[in-house]
Amino acid sequence: MGLFGTSGIRGKFGEFVTPELALKVGKAIVERQGEKVFVGRDTRLSGPVIEAALVAGVVSAGGEAVRLGVAPTPTVALAGRDSKAVMITASHNPPDYNGMKIFGKGGEVQREFERRVEFKVEKGIGAARWDELGSESFDDGAVRRHMDAALAHADVGLIRKKAPKVLIDCGNGAGCSITPYVLREAGCRVVGVNADKSGIFARGLEPNAENLSETCRLVKACGADIGIAHDGDADRAVAIDENGEMVGLDAQLALMCGYLLGKGGKGTGKGKDVASTVEASLAVRESVEKAGGRLHITRVGSLDVANAIREKGCFFGGEPCGEYIFPEEVMVPDGVLCALKLVEMTCALGKLSALRKKVKIYPMRRSKYECRDKEKAMRAIREKMKAFEGRMHTIDGIRVDFENGWVMVRPSGTEPAIRITCEHRNAKGLEKVFKQAEGIVKSSL
Ligand code: MG
Repeated sequence: MGLFGTSGIRGKFGEFVTPELALKVGKAIVERQGEKVFVGRDTRLSGPVIEAALVAGVVSAGGEAVRLGVAPTPTVALAGRDSKAVMITASHNPPDYNGMKIFGKGGEVQREFERRVEFKVEKGIGAARWDELGSESFDDGAVRRHMDAALAHADVGLIRKKAPKVLIDCGNGAGCSITPYVLREAGCRVVGVNADKSGIFARGLEPNAENLSETCRLVKACGADIGIAHDGDADRAVAIDENGEMVGLDAQLALMCGYLLGKGGKGTGKGKDVASTVEASLAVRESVEKAGGRLHITRVGSLDVANAIREKGCFFGGEPCGEYIFPEEVMVPDGVLCALKLVEMTCALGKLSALRKKVKIYPMRRSKYECRDKEKAMRAIREKMKAFEGRMHTIDGIRVDFENGWVMVRPSGTEPAIRITCEHRNAKGLEKVFKQAEGIVKSSL
């Protein structure tokens, strides 16, 4: 099994992710004497020991490790804008997981670099000479710098004028160290929930309806204008309307695209090109097109979205999971700036409940089929999918777009399974397309 998944190194602490592995990774990422490596972590209880081992690795390979302490992923990436950075996190995974995500020049490193690290970790590398060892230091200014960068990209004047009441649920994750404070500085009346960095998680870290039911109730109970929730490393932010209803990931992305494409405020109306993934719903496509924008579709994963942003010159890139990249600030998803932009949007356009209802959400179906040999199955599926009339894309699995919807079949990145996702403007059409796709997949497994 490879070391890196679609989102860095990730697994159970003590099994896959160990201090021994962190030491090796620390050594492997240093490419030259004196290279700076910023190291941050989320609040997981296994974070400090992974950090200690990783820092030891960096120093022993001759690098300069700079500890940032508990900080969100975008804060860490921003700190390492001119060098390298490692975020110790397992994002939304359970508390017994941890992981490492590597950044270079303010963005996720490319796959080739990951392969080089993998090779060096496997081969094993010795320490530098005694007089060529690196050093370590602590930088407590990274959060402040990120706050300033985020505030510079939001319409703080507008937010101050409206002074909205905002409930922020940090999930006891890395967002605790920044988001409540940046919202307060922007002029919000802030109610912090799960905002202590104990590393004991009061809710599941994936910001979904199930984990946020209590948060939704609190938004309504305290009369907040908007609720916002992060995942464990605060690269995601999801919104809850003033009635305590989740805006919904597809509607939220559609609204954000429409808002940013308009001339709503500072940092908006700066371009027409937007990037999203093959999982983006029709609502997103419609919202972008209605606002006169162009949607560029790429593979699932923030690295691919970032690459599409660079290639197509996009001013914004968003994944339906709530990971939004604002490239003018930093080339990784930033849940902190996203929180500010969601607040700004409701200040500019009005109540979220009303905005949410304006987004047309179409029927969607998702299903998963166990499959051992994904490659072989996908080859057969690809041939049979030609039966669909529409435009076929093969950037990530196989997606066919037609007038009133789309269907996608792709191998799971993490499980021995093939997934079907289908969306259609009407329920009957959905059923027909889904059945046809299911037939194709089942006969190819
Ligand atoms: Mg995350």
